[in-house]
Amino acid sequence: MTSVVIVGSGFTGFECARALSRRLRKVGADNVDISIVSPVDYMLYTPLLPDVAGGLVDARFVAIPLANSLRGVRAIRGRVDEVDFAGRTVTVTDSEERSRALQWDRLVLTPGSVTRLFDVPGLAEHARGLKSTAEALYLRDHVLEQLQLANVDDDPGRAAARRTIVVVGASYSGTELAVQLRALADTAAKHMGFDPGEVKFVLLDLAEQVMPEVGEKLGAAAQRVLRARGIDVRLGVTLKEVHPEHVVLSDDSLLRTHTVAWVTGVTGAPLIERLGLETERGRLKVTTELQVPGHPDVFSAGDAAAVPDVTQPGKITPPTAQHATRQGKTLARNVAASLGYGKAKRYKHRNMGLVVDLGPRYAVANPLNIQLSGFPAKVVTRGYHVMAIPRGVNRWAVALAYLTDLFWDRSVVSFGLSSSEDAQFSASEGIPVPKRD
Ligand SMILES: Cc1cc2nc3c(=O)[nH]c(=O)nc-3n(C[C@H](O)[C@H](O)[C@H](O)COP(=O)(O)OP(=O)(O)OC[C@H]3O[C@@H](n4cnc5c(N)ncnc54)[C@H](O)[C@@H]3O)c2cc1C
Repeated sequence: MTSVVIVGSGFTGFECARALSRRLRKVGADNVDISIVSPVDYMLYTPLLPDVAGGLVDARFVAIPLANSLRGVRAIRGRVDEVDFAGRTVTVTDSEERSRALQWDRLVLTPGSVTRLFDVPGLAEHARGLKSTAEALYLRDHVLEQLQLANVDDDPGRAAARRTIVVVGASYSGTELAVQLRALADTAAKHMGFDPGEVKFVLLDLAEQVMPEVGEKLGAAAQRVLRARGIDVRLGVTLKEVHPEHVVLSDDSLLRTHTVAWVTGVTGAPLIERLGLETERGRLKVTTELQVPGHPDVFSAGDAAAVPDVTQPGKITPPTAQHATRQGKTLARNVAASLGYGKAKRYKHRNMGLVVDLGPRYAVANPLNIQLSGFPAKVVTRGYHVMAIPRGVNRWAVALAYLTDLFWDRSVVSFGLSSSEDAQFSASEGIPVPKRD
């Protein structure tokens, strides 16, 4: 029996497992054992995490269970801590901290990425990211709880701080988070009977433009919408210090707040650094065939890898789901080819644009370079996500959530399923955070 081990169940690992299993079934290859190792038992459709944080979509709807979606693939729950390239094993540690070795003939490294942290005092302790369900659920509950506490706080300064939400990172994910939390706060104000104008949103970014990914024109349109929604966009600034009840910005101004979301970008998963292999900007170097140089039986792609972009020589592909999904398919083809089934090919994909949901009735999108904004972009954005979710039942549930949103307000409830500790970068994303003195 030949054994293929895939590390990580994100867009890349999931798609690779699914396509490889199909490909091998088609050629009648029954001597290959495929395993996917992941600390979670699902593939997370991250583009809808802002909708989860905003209370629009249920977290279960954006989680695709491995158990029901990957025919012919063994799902092993655990975290890969070490790779022995000479002995061809990986060490898998489960949630009860028990470790065991797993043998491989072909290894696919797709552990994705984690939030990129900077050396900002207090950031790891007091800010939260948006890369996992724990973080999205925590942000929703925390914002609602702060609004509820503000309503009964007899210290007006502290009440205003509870009603101030700071989001750092004005690329598409940070911007989507800010507008979804704004929509949640607006609904909370309506249902709880206070003025929505009392809730202040501040969106910070060091860049000089909101969402540079969508170009100048759509970026400017997005900025107008953000301002119209009462979101204070401050460009050319970031955080200097984070404290439990205030932040200091890089321009030395002070903002009283109890909520800081840090959505400034990603870096390769911690496992990548531990491999001792060559990296580029925190991502594992690979060839255009997605092989790790010097290790013909080891493959990698997605956010974890620096995949050369053959459509733009000298560049690597950006960390997006659009590339991750397609790279997963190329991985499947090339792993199968390395086992003697079919021919390998290099990875090539031209960027097809981006869709960005900007809250009630508005979005911006540039599919195939056609610039759309407003309601048409909203229809394209929601339609795109519903179609892109890789499982029928989840597509159905998300479509129903969007349909419900057309007629009724989102629910203002917090279950407290994810605590402040659960949502810390170390617990929810596995980022080793050094302790400060
Ligand atoms: C909020 C948000 C919104 C986004 N919106 C969009 C969008 O609209 N469009 C778009 O194209 N892209 C979007 N992206 C980017 C997209 O999510 C990523 O590019 C994509 O998830 C990358 O897929 P991946 O499989 O490489 O990595 P990931 O999705 O990060 O998955 C990695 C997997 O590996 C697992 N793992 C990690 N370490 C280990 C280990 N040591 N052992 C075993 N398993 C491990 C993780 O648990 C996870 O299951 C968004 C990202 C975020 C965070």
